Amino acid sequence: MRIFKFGGASVNSTAAVRNMAAIVQKYYGQPLVIVVSAMGKTTNRLEQLVPGVRPMAEHPLMLEELRNYHLQIISELFSNPDHPVYQDFDRLFAQLAQQSAQTPTHYNYDYDQTVCFGELLSTTIISHYLNYIGLENLWVDVRQIICTNHNYREGIVDFALTQEAARKFIAAHQNTTTFITQGFIAGTSDGHTTTLGREGSDYSAAILSYCLDADRMTIWKDVPGFLNADPKYFTDTVKIEEIPYNEAIELAYYGASVIHPKTVKPIQNKNIMLDIKSFVTPEAEGSKIGPFDTIRPLTPLYIVKQNQTLLSILPKDFSFIAEDNLQTIFAALARLNIRVNLMQNTALSFSLCIDDNPLLLSQLRDHLQQQFHLRYNRGLKLITIRYYTQEIIDKIVAGRPVLLQQRTRTTAQLIIQ
Ligand code: ASP
Ligand code: MG
Repeated sequence: MRIFKFGGASVNSTAAVRNMAAIVQKYYGQPLVIVVSAMGKTTNRLEQLVPGVRPMAEHPLMLEELRNYHLQIISELFSNPDHPVYQDFDRLFAQLAQQSAQTPTHYNYDYDQTVCFGELLSTTIISHYLNYIGLENLWVDVRQIICTNHNYREGIVDFALTQEAARKFIAAHQNTTTFITQGFIAGTSDGHTTTLGREGSDYSAAILSYCLDADRMTIWKDVPGFLNADPKYFTDTVKIEEIPYNEAIELAYYGASVIHPKTVKPIQNKNIMLDIKSFVTPEAEGSKIGPFDTIRPLTPLYIVKQNQTLLSILPKDFSFIAEDNLQTIFAALARLNIRVNLMQNTALSFSLCIDDNPLLLSQLRDHLQQQFHLRYNRGLKLITIRYYTQEIIDKIVAGRPVLLQQRTRTTAQLIIQ
């Protein structure tokens, strides 16, 4: 069994979907589970349609844009205007419209019930399309397979239940070799939709690789492999050929966008080789994450996280930042599911760097403002350099003010404007 993952950029247009189908064609006939993300930037748009995020009056236009974007692709892929894909699309889209018009309940819950439609739509279109061009496949609702708890927006996977469901499903479909399913989304045992965190489709593929004892997992990307820096921000990037599992976990944890942080553990546990390959040049080698001893070639690695907020939390009563204060702060962060990218404290203040999210920030303020002063700085970058030297840091900082920095023997992290 092989597991493929195609991200949003690999299915963001008619040409992209056709290219993806051409890759699937090459492997067609071998047992294959294909995990697909939402098309292009659909998830970002759906985030705006979560009840309570934007005024209802803005919904019709946003829905119309999303609908047209998908319909354009469908109409180019299918020459037959009566193809059943239209019915399935309309049904899902009506459900999305209805969901986005709900009265807000809890943000994290509403979020999952809304953003899941990106993957449901993309896989529905792609499954139909592959069947249409003769690549017979079965569409699978992954919410019936990947089972999580009720931790909305970042469901914790129950591997035992998931493995049982995945194996049962495959065993019940012995004559099917190609399965198409959604990345990023999952379900609770009582039938609610959950998600696994932004960019979680890699993780979905890893969960399925683990549960189905896959021989290999492949992530198809718009880059030639695991690069030492994001080509969006750096020139002269170097492709890493081989990455040990633990190194990949560290890099993903710091925010290497090429792979979702939780992806590596499941495949490491079963010693599954993970390929990162380019969907533009599918014949090329790509990068491998596997049971290697060292990273090859060894070179400095740069990770940039944009849109960071640096928050300083100061006790109002002039107590020190100590265990009890930290406990209050972390309880609030945990309750709101806010991930901390970097933290540091002095006697009187606790600083933390988080992804910018005004809604969650204001909720955090509500939780903490009785006891603490909160100050924040938005629009920052968090830069992590692994295998750094002082020269490299100087070059990156280029005279800009550094708001906060941390160094270990191998890794430097800087927050800059
Ligand atoms: N569509 C989701 C996102 O954009 C999941 C993914 O792409 O991996 O975050
Ligand atoms: Mg994506």
